[in-house]
Amino acid sequence: MAKKTPGYACSSCGHRVSKWVGRCPSCSEWGTVEGVAAPVAVVGTTGGSAARTPSLSGLTPTSPARKVTDIDPTGAEHRPSGIGELDRVLGGGVVPGSAVLLAGEPGVGKSTLLLEVANRWARLGRSVLYLTAEESVGQVRQRAGRTDALSPDLWLAAEHDLETALGQIEVTQPELVIIDSLQTIHANGVEGVAGGVAQTRAVAATLTTFAKSTGIPVLVVGHVTKDGAVAGPRTVEHLVDVVLHFEGDRHSALRFLRGQKNRFGATDEVGCFEQTAEGIREVADPSGLFLHEREEPVSGTSVTVLMDGRRPMVGEIQTLALPSGQHTPRRVVTGIDTGRVATILAVLAQRCELDLMGHEVYAATVGGMRISEPAADLATALALASTCHDHALPTGLVAVGEVGLGGEVRRVPDLRQRLAEAARLGFTSAFVPASTRSSDQVRVSGLRIMPVRTVSEALTELGLSQPVRRG
Ligand SMILES: [Zn+2]
Repeated sequence: MAKKTPGYACSSCGHRVSKWVGRCPSCSEWGTVEGVAAPVAVVGTTGGSAARTPSLSGLTPTSPARKVTDIDPTGAEHRPSGIGELDRVLGGGVVPGSAVLLAGEPGVGKSTLLLEVANRWARLGRSVLYLTAEESVGQVRQRAGRTDALSPDLWLAAEHDLETALGQIEVTQPELVIIDSLQTIHANGVEGVAGGVAQTRAVAATLTTFAKSTGIPVLVVGHVTKDGAVAGPRTVEHLVDVVLHFEGDRHSALRFLRGQKNRFGATDEVGCFEQTAEGIREVADPSGLFLHEREEPVSGTSVTVLMDGRRPMVGEIQTLALPSGQHTPRRVVTGIDTGRVATILAVLAQRCELDLMGHEVYAATVGGMRISEPAADLATALALASTCHDHALPTGLVAVGEVGLGGEVRRVPDLRQRLAEAARLGFTSAFVPASTRSSDQVRVSGLRIMPVRTVSEALTELGLSQPVRRG
């Protein structure tokens, strides 16, 4: 029987080593040394496995097949990071042995977020090493002081060199490693400057095999530039286990964390954060941020419920329309797809006798919300009708539904969740697409549901059905 201790071998030249190293001592490649299972002596456990008899190839599977019923459905053991909004996107927390890439444009707050992750992780009594190649340790220490991130389990080091960075990790033996950033760490013996394609790949590959071999999770920052830089995170996405995108508008304090790839969970979750003077704060209940609070209802505004991933968010649409003498009237649209607004204007003109084609039209969302789904169509149509008649919609009303070219209101996914969210925030009535299937009838306590088949029906209901024709 062969010995059970696993060894390591270079996937490039086959050189074997007893201990994991970042760089192969034989061929000098980075990130090619991987754990190889020495022939496994299978211990009979629950139901046994398929690998008891020697295989025809003479090789023993590294992880023998198991019965589906014996496998933990979550697939991985997630450890909570201490930040709920991050854990939501990660699928429950940080998985030991995983490499996570946090991508985002410069200045969006990636370093601030990861320092906060380090802080929360350390406050749970677990050690974390924050390796910076972007700033000096003094600068990070200052930032940590400002954001109240001074925990004795948080270790700082400044390293630009991959080899010494790995040495630091070996000495510190942390339970989590954070590296800022992928583009500023240099791998010796690899052509190109730090941040170049070859360099970035070598660093990412090494960090991934490091995480896998030691079980220590690695979170690494990757910069993306607006033009989709050549050596950006795109070139290393396939090497890491998880890719998260941290994004936000320059003019808004709101930040969103989205999963783009996740070997251990779903990618349709979104985390919400707010950038404040004290650092990054998680926003567990973002819905109210997209509403403008006012005492008196104002014409031209309406409220809808969007789905961002699996998360419903209530948001406000504001519009203005005024007669224009111009041949081509102005259309200024922010946060909504310009094409959708144009389509809705055409539908209103053609199907609802509400002709705003000769009007200047302004449409915007509140709080930097971006609307990318047609479920907001009906609310947009109602807002435009409301401004046109200078007649405010009732307070407490939300509208959900896609608008077709025939003026019909179409069904949207996750209606029940959207309405439940509206009710939770205190809304009292909702226009929803009328469904022909009785099984689709949605009831949400506290909410008066008003099914409509067409935009016209909703306008009639609101007393906004008087024709408006082009001057
Ligand atoms: Zn090698």
